[in-house]
Amino acid sequence: MTGNSHSWASVGEIAAEVIACERCALFRTRTLAVPGDGSPSAAVLFIGEGPGQNEDEQGLPFIGRAGKLLDKLLAEVPLRRSDVFITNVVKCRPPGNRDPEPDEVAACMPYLKAQIELIDPRVIVTLGRHSMLRFYPEGKISNDHGRIIPIGSRVLLPLYHPAAILRNPRLNEPMLADIKRIPEAVRESLLLRRPTTPTHVRQDAETHNDTQPLANDVEQRPLF
Ligand code: SF4
Repeated sequence: MTGNSHSWASVGEIAAEVIACERCALFRTRTLAVPGDGSPSAAVLFIGEGPGQNEDEQGLPFIGRAGKLLDKLLAEVPLRRSDVFITNVVKCRPPGNRDPEPDEVAACMPYLKAQIELIDPRVIVTLGRHSMLRFYPEGKISNDHGRIIPIGSRVLLPLYHPAAILRNPRLNEPMLADIKRIPEAVRESLLLRRPTTPTHVRQDAETHNDTQPLANDVEQRPLF
């Protein structure tokens, strides 16, 4: 038995259902659904918004140019893909890479929620603005990228989307600095599980001028 509200007992079971899923209109235009890939017990879960063309054709997340860049960035931590789990908010490609519609996100959300419950990551790394806003609606990616934000018993680390780095190479340096904060984010998440740890948000004063602490209730924020 698991704590998720569906009957999935493993990320493999979720993947099997995603592959055949017809819960929203995106199943009509996809080639392959993209459930996600990586370690089912990863401490770090990466979440993008939705699959692109390459992902749709091969059924794997982040395998195009943006995916190759993500691999390079992970190597700087250092991490390998097999150390983390990578998925998306919606598991099927929106036509023309448009933003997913609210009803499509709602239909797909049980899969993501169950993946989070079963993988039980310490750190959720969102890739891009849209994915960040699912967890941190008041966030602004230009301000909040690279911040370690308590969210429930985990921490959120919003990053730019690798595709944004390809479009704007000036973001490469901040992206590299942000992704190198993953080990620190894991350490922060472990402190959150200590009952006497005070609520706080650590910020890197050298790279972030916004030193205002988040409200004390951030730690109690629901995941969605
Ligand atoms: S996007 Fe999600 S809900 Fe929609 S068909 Fe694909 S797997 Fe099912």
